[in-house]
Amino acid sequence: MNEIFLMKLGEVVLKGANKRQFENRLRQNVRRRMEPYGNFDVYILQSTVYVQPMDESADLDGAWEACRSIFGVVSLCRCRPCEKDIDAIFHAVEEYLGEDLDAVESFKVESKRSDKAFPLTSIAISQEIGGRLAESHPGCRVDVHNPAYTVYVEVRDYAAYVHGPAEPGAGGLPTGVGGRGMCLLSGGIDSPVAAYMMARRGMEIECVHFFSYPYTSQLAKDKVLELARLVTRYCGRMTVNVVSFTEIQEAIRDNCPEEYFTLIMRRFMMEISQRIAKQDGCGALITGENLGQVASQTMEAMAVTGAVVDIPIFMPLVGMDKEQIVAVARNIGTLETSILPYEDCCTVFTPKHPKTKPTLGQVLHAEEKLDRETLIAQALGSVEKVTVRYHDEPRL
Ligand code: ATP
Ligand code: MG
Repeated sequence: MNEIFLMKLGEVVLKGANKRQFENRLRQNVRRRMEPYGNFDVYILQSTVYVQPMDESADLDGAWEACRSIFGVVSLCRCRPCEKDIDAIFHAVEEYLGEDLDAVESFKVESKRSDKAFPLTSIAISQEIGGRLAESHPGCRVDVHNPAYTVYVEVRDYAAYVHGPAEPGAGGLPTGVGGRGMCLLSGGIDSPVAAYMMARRGMEIECVHFFSYPYTSQLAKDKVLELARLVTRYCGRMTVNVVSFTEIQEAIRDNCPEEYFTLIMRRFMMEISQRIAKQDGCGALITGENLGQVASQTMEAMAVTGAVVDIPIFMPLVGMDKEQIVAVARNIGTLETSILPYEDCCTVFTPKHPKTKPTLGQVLHAEEKLDRETLIAQALGSVEKVTVRYHDEPRL
């Protein structure tokens, strides 16, 4: 094959004794993510992942796109492999990068020789290839300080590789090395970003969504499943637990003081999410909460909401500004779907004057009349587990 992807490992290389485990996980993730695109060999040597197509039918462009969103990779490039021989290297550069060189005014060659048995040093390789290229591309001069384009030559164990500038990778840690988390996914801007951010730290993600049919529509549910699908681009396939929340919301409306509606509702969400999390082996909950954004996101409100669970609650957006969150949402491709107008169950029965500084005692008193266990058991009985994959048809 005359093209291969090389991906440089990120923080993974820093992890000492765990390095092997991290690399194995990353290799497994890359293999799985390449499956839809054909037959690829995936291996790791010297902190570099090699993604090598094994036959002509492989969809290289599709595979490349997928590689750009794999966590644990700091940078990646498409390369032409060639024999470890200076003439072969020159021909490979000409064939593979010649057109790029014709389009720029200046260039340099940067070489790396990890195979120390190769007869030329890195500097000598750069000088030799640079000299020959300057002759064959008279419109493009060598500029080692401020080149418009850099040709890279890497002489490694089994072959030499030539490539142009690398692209930044998705960063973070390989999915799976950070344990498994249950993200409370609404149809808003924040929670998909929260799921993405924790996935980027190596967590495997499962989601839970509460919906209140007929107060919220089928479209609102599809919107959430579509958001989940967009996030799977980064974290791989996931399960979304869809929980019917109607009875609980009606019970709250009929039995609790209005100013506590949202808080009590959120306490149910947390508790139900924790139960599903424990069943499914998730060690933490993830929410898109952000300090001060709405009445239920004051410190006091968060304390009351968090009091029903005993596993950690990760809130990766808690200290961010809205513009920062929106920028991430735009960047990862969830923003457009998030801002579609379908209502969320949080907007059903919203109190006119929500309590912003509740105490736990007040809230416990406010929910006294509810039969929590029965309501929770009913909700758990309603769970629909939906498997979401990136290659599913878009739902909206
Ligand atoms: P988002 O933009 O994520 O909807 P928000 O700013 O609208 O957040 P809230 O509505 O108070 O804030 O929700 C806070 C968090 O609670 C959300 O980020 C999400 O993690 C969770 N959440 C809210 N509504 C739901 C729901 N219907 N199903 C699952 N989780 C929810
Ligand atoms: Mg919301």
